[in-house]
Amino acid sequence: MTKNYLKLQFYSLPCNQAFARDAVAAFCVPLNPSLSELSDIKTAVSEAVTNCTVHAYRGNLGIITIECESDERSLHIKVIDTGRGIEDINKAVQPFFTTLPGDERSGMGFTIMQTFMDDFKVNSIKGEGTVVYMTKNLKVETENA
Ligand code: ATP
Ligand code: MG
Repeated sequence: MTKNYLKLQFYSLPCNQAFARDAVAAFCVPLNPSLSELSDIKTAVSEAVTNCTVHAYRGNLGIITIECESDERSLHIKVIDTGRGIEDINKAVQPFFTTLPGDERSGMGFTIMQTFMDDFKVNSIKGEGTVVYMTKNLKVETENA
């Protein structure tokens, strides 16, 4: 399978979360992921997109961009916003750290992304926006149940 590329742009509406994770899942079907790999990817994308809606744009309308690149056995995902940015990335990625504690947030989104994906990185500039990079390395077909 050769390289493939996808770019999605959509409004930061909560109703677009399901669309975004399903679109990324559909994009990676040719890589023949297992159900558990697919579920990991969908969960990680959902968490990243939710963060854009809830934190980056805080309920205001903004644009979320997702870029996906696949090669032989890897899926590389970027989730990009141009919202408020993150003050302290090292703090933000700690389990249970949240800046919205009274808002049903548990501070586990980044931890989930890190756990479910093979590679994870965040870049952010305060007042300019955030990019979350995630990679999933897919197992070879015979290993998948
Ligand atoms: P949960 O994901 O469990 O609902 P949470 O969103 O607060 O809670 P994380 O997803 O781990 O937890 O994010 C940690 C913190 O990082 C957030 O509380 C927020 O302050 C900041 N953050 C995360 N993503 C963004 C973003 N795209 N833009 C601005 N701030 C962000
Ligand atoms: Mg979150």
